[in-house]
Parts: sequence; structure tokens; C-alpha cells
Amino acid sequence: MTATIINGKEIAEKKRMEIAEEVSKLKKLGVTPGLAVILVGNNHASRTYVTNKEKACKELGMNSVLIELPEEISEQELLSKIEELNMDDQIHGILVQLPIPKHIDEKKVIESISPFKDVDGFHPINIGRMMTGQNAFLPCTPYGIMVLLEETGISVAGKHVVVVGRSNIVGKPVGQLFLNQHATVTYCHSKTKDLKGHTNQADILIAAVGIPNFITAEHVKEGAVVIDVGINRNEAGKLCGDVAFAEVSEKAGYITPVPKGVGPMTITMLMFNTLKSAAESLNRN
Ligand code: NDP
Repeated sequence: MTATIINGKEIAEKKRMEIAEEVSKLKKLGVTPGLAVILVGNNHASRTYVTNKEKACKELGMNSVLIELPEEISEQELLSKIEELNMDDQIHGILVQLPIPKHIDEKKVIESISPFKDVDGFHPINIGRMMTGQNAFLPCTPYGIMVLLEETGISVAGKHVVVVGRSNIVGKPVGQLFLNQHATVTYCHSKTKDLKGHTNQADILIAAVGIPNFITAEHVKEGAVVIDVGINRNEAGKLCGDVAFAEVSEKAGYITPVPKGVGPMTITMLMFNTLKSAAESLNRN
């Protein structure tokens, strides 16, 4: 079997067109969705991510504000800046690009963002709301994965989903979203015994590990849906995922490539969350 490739770039573009349409409708009602991105220090990768987020905002007709703060900024100064943005009516989404310098408490920073503007979906209130199936900002990468499957017409209810990775930003929340959609979910991590025994039972396998070519054909059941979240560099410096694409695509039913798989969906869902926040602010007022 040769897997059908799930084209994340194409699906992301379709979603972005839908978002742009909704943005223009909101603008007619006098609201332009606005995203504030805070970048602390000068991490090269972070700067690239931030630039891509700004570009996406502009393309969709949203406002974006980049706030660049020096590496040595104090925690208090950063918290004050966030508070200012919490109070700003023009700003509907606030995102602090991670990682932040070690002298600042990341949890405190995330919790200082108003849950109404937490478009990354990292605030404990939004996580709790997601877990209990209430209206919430869903974390962008997990949300993007659900949209990829939905757009591809892959049903989730009753499927066995195996998630490899349990980070707070990808593994844990994506498993929760699958559970919310009535899948049976197994989480695997670095202490899991007999990983292959678990992954081979997966109808849908999510790889969120951060190790190039970690998931091989031996981990995958014939015909499974394989979603590769990893963004890594291989020894040659080339971008690659967590899945050994060539061999796994001979066995899987569906597979996401890297690049052009999950990656483009992450920023798209950030744009969606910013739009959602702006629309909800209108209803609140
Ligand atoms: P983390 O490093 O936070 O988590 C990695 C997870 O993999 C951990 O839960 C860890 O287990 C688990 N793991 C590590 N080694 C093994 C092993 N040998 N067997 C089983 N599990 C293992 O990474 P993230 O979740 O933040 O990111 C994962 C990947 O996804 C990275 O490549 C990252 O770049 C990418 N990413 C991509 C995004 C996108 O937009 N496409 C967005 C965010 C991340 P344990 O908990 O026990 O340590």
C-alpha cells in the first residue's frame, strides 16, 4: 500500500481563505482582529516564527503588533506589558513566543494573559475548558491536526489513537481532543515499555517526539493514519519529521509530510483563534 499524502499546505490555504472572509465581515462591523506577539531576546528560530505569524496576520487582513523586549527584561516588566495588552481593546490575541529566558517564570507569564486573549490556548483556564468540552481556545498544533483529519474526511469516533509524546503543548492536548471526539486514546512517552506493541495497535498514530525518523515502518499498522508533528533537522541539516517518511508511507493509509503537513496548520489555527477572540469580544460588548 502507498499512503495518501495529507497536504497540510493546501488545507491550511483553504482555511486561511475562509478566515480572511470572516475577517472582512468583522471589519464591516467595526472590529479588526488584532494579535500582539511578544518576543523576548533574540532567539533565531523564535524570530522566524514571529515573522511568519506577522505575515499571516497581514495576509488575512488582521492587525499585528510585534513587541520586542530585551533578553534581560525583568519578570515584572514583562508581566506589566502583558497587563497593558490585556486592557487594550484593539488587541484580541496575546502570544508570548516561547522559550523565554530562564530568569522569568513561564507559568506565571502564561497565567498572566487574559484567558479571553489566550489564542495559544496554553492558559490553565482554557486547558480546563477544553478538557471539560466547553468553549475554549484550543492549542493551535493539536487543533490543526483535528482540522487536517476533518478536511481529509477521516472519522475519529471509535478509532484507537496512539499519541507518542506527552508535552503540554502537543501530546497531552491532542490526545484530549481525540477523546472529546470519542476516540480511544493511548499515550506513550519515554518511559513507555514496548512502544511498538502500542503503536502497532493505532488506527491513528500521532508522532510528537522531536527525534528524526523515530517512527519506522515497524511501529505502524498496515493502513494506519500517521500524523507527523515533528520539526527536526537531520544530520545533513535538512528539515524532517519524527517519521521515517519513505518506509512508513509504503505501509500507512494516510500520512502527513514534513514540511507541508502539520506545520502550516499551526499558524492557521492561531489566526482562527484570533478571529474567534475578536468575534467573541464583539458579542461580549
Ligand atoms: P517535547 O520535547 O516537549 O516532548 C517530547 C515528548 O516525546 C516527551 O513527552 C517525551 O517523553 C517523548 N519522548 C522522547 N523520547 C521518547 C522515546 N524514546 N520514546 C517515546 N517517547 C519519547 O516536544 P514537543 O511536544 O514540544 O514537540 C515535539 C515535536 O513536535 C518537536 O519536533 C517539535 O519541534 C515539533 N513541534 C511542531 C509543531 C508544529 O507546528 N508542527 C509545534 C510544536 C512542536 P517524556 O515526557 O517522558 O520526556
